[in-house]
Amino acid sequence: MDCLFCKIAVGEIPATKVYEDASCIAFSDIHPQAPVHLLIIPRQHIASLDEVRETYRELLGHLMLVAAELAKQQKLSKGFRVVMNTGVDGGQTVNHLHLHLLGGRAMHWPPG
Ligand code: 5GP
Ligand code: ZN
Repeated sequence: MDCLFCKIAVGEIPATKVYEDASCIAFSDIHPQAPVHLLIIPRQHIASLDEVRETYRELLGHLMLVAAELAKQQKLSKGFRVVMNTGVDGGQTVNHLHLHLLGGRAMHWPPG
C-alpha cells in the first residue's frame, strides 16, 4: 500500500522513533509545531477516525495511554495537547490514523 506512515511503521522510510510496541509506534513530526511534537500511529493501516469500528476500541485506548505516557517521558508537566485531525475539514493530510502529541509551549484555543 502506498502509505507514508505504513512505510515509516515498517522502517522503509526513516523517522526519529521515540517509542514502539506490538501495536503502535511514535516518532517526531518532520515539521514540528511545538518544542515537542510527536506522532503516534497504529502499525495497522486505518485511514482515519472516520473509519474506526468497534473492533478498534482497545487499540484506540492504547494510543491514548501511550500519548499520556510519552507526555510524562517528555516532561510535559505543565500540560500538552493531543489532536487527531480527521478528513478534509479536519485538516488531515496523511491518511493513516495518527495522534499528534504537542507540548512545551502554551497552546491557543480555538484552533485555526
Ligand atoms: P495531519 O496533517 O494528517 O494531521 O498530520 C500529518 C503530519 O505528518 C504533519 O504534521 C506532517 O508534518 C507530518 N509528516 C508528513 N510527512 C512526514 C514524514 O515524512 N515524516 C515525519 N516524521 N512526519 C511527516
Ligand atoms: Zn498506512
